[in-house]
Amino acid sequence: MGEGRPILIAGGGLGGLAAALALGRKGLAVRVLEQAPKFAPIGYGIQLGPNVFPMFDRLGVSAAVMRDATIPRNILMLDALSGEEVTHIPTGPKFRARFTHPYIIIHREDIHRVLIEACAAVPAITMEGGAGVADFEETDDGGVRVVLEDGRRVEGAALIGADGLRSAVRARLVTEGEPQPIGYVAHRTIVPMDALAAHIPYREEVVLWGGPGFHIVHYPLRHGTLFNVVAVFRTATFAERLDPAAYAAEVRKTYQDAHPVMKTLTDMMDLERRWIIADRDPIRHWGRGRVTLLGDAAHPVLQSFAQGACMAIEDGVVLGELVGLAGGDLAQAFACYQKNRLLRTARLALESRAIWGFYHAEGIARDVRNDTCARWSEDDVFRCLAWLYDGVVLPS
Ligand SMILES: Cc1cc2nc3c(=O)[nH]c(=O)nc-3n(C[C@H](O)[C@H](O)[C@H](O)COP(=O)(O)OP(=O)(O)OC[C@H]3O[C@@H](n4cnc5c(N)ncnc54)[C@H](O)[C@@H]3O)c2cc1C
Repeated sequence: MGEGRPILIAGGGLGGLAAALALGRKGLAVRVLEQAPKFAPIGYGIQLGPNVFPMFDRLGVSAAVMRDATIPRNILMLDALSGEEVTHIPTGPKFRARFTHPYIIIHREDIHRVLIEACAAVPAITMEGGAGVADFEETDDGGVRVVLEDGRRVEGAALIGADGLRSAVRARLVTEGEPQPIGYVAHRTIVPMDALAAHIPYREEVVLWGGPGFHIVHYPLRHGTLFNVVAVFRTATFAERLDPAAYAAEVRKTYQDAHPVMKTLTDMMDLERRWIIADRDPIRHWGRGRVTLLGDAAHPVLQSFAQGACMAIEDGVVLGELVGLAGGDLAQAFACYQKNRLLRTARLALESRAIWGFYHAEGIARDVRNDTCARWSEDDVFRCLAWLYDGVVLPS
């Protein structure tokens, strides 16, 4: 194994690198083609559920991930108008007893760096920056030829499109156009914990404040030295670039009825860079022959469960295992992979849309939500999450 043409991976994000590591550790030659000039860790805070740990174990990176991770004291959902608790997920011993593995929060830079370093230590893996994939074709001799944005051509045994929400590989496989924006945007900010206003509570928890048309998520990072805030809200101007002063005024108006803590948090937000929230309808076919997709390229979801990266990592590891078992028949391995991953990821996409409404409930829907959740026990909450957090059985 490992001889001949490499398996090409478009995209060196968390999903692409997980796939590279899963394949490379089996001795299979892999070449990761990343659009960004350098393989530099990027990003903000990220939450990872217990389902991702068996993947990290398989990749041999669990200990490295845990060095940089924080386990929150609790996951709280608060009503953004009253500040009262709607529901919570206990993340302490009871959670570990039920789901075996922890729930963690980590800087995406840290986990990206762990994966980059782990890939760099595997001789079968090559990582190449400044190599945006523009096009590809399957060749008659049983391989693929990729065309890079700068016109270079790269030959491989197969192609995995791990190139994110606006995947160029997907655009050549599926004729459905752009991801669907839902009219919300996200802003992310990280500040030193000791710069926080004294009245900001819950510094050791993951907190989601859910309100009509807006929510805020916050949690500590890097062992409590940093505080990560994500502010998400509906705006008619999601596709436009606004005058900064007018935009800041719009944000203040959006949160005008929110709890005072949320107003303080929005005042701290970096409003320069924003993410347009979008997903896609689940589809049955991600690939063709020796070309497939993973992560956001295959099944982008709303952030409701904080599981998009977890799914990308699960995809990468499952794909690596199935390729390892396929005895060289990559098209067959890719077909098995799609079958294996399809319903779990489609369920996440659909439930994420439903939960989006739950977070942003208004009027009587909000009253019904709060009343219903007040009756849930911790075991009820665990039961609702079991399909997700119990994870997957890896092929063997
Ligand atoms: C506000 C917000 C909060 C989130 N929070 C969480 C969370 O808490 N937990 C969680 O699990 N998920 C979370 N997610 C989702 C998560 O970020 C994504 O699902 C995850 O990053 C998908 O990984 P990926 O590897 O598929 O794609 P990406 O991380 O997007 O990586 C794609 C890579 O491909 C490269 N690329 C793009 N085009 C090309 C090309 N043509 N050729 C070559 N390379 C290319 C990009 O530069 C990038 O490196 C969040 C998302 C958002 C927007």
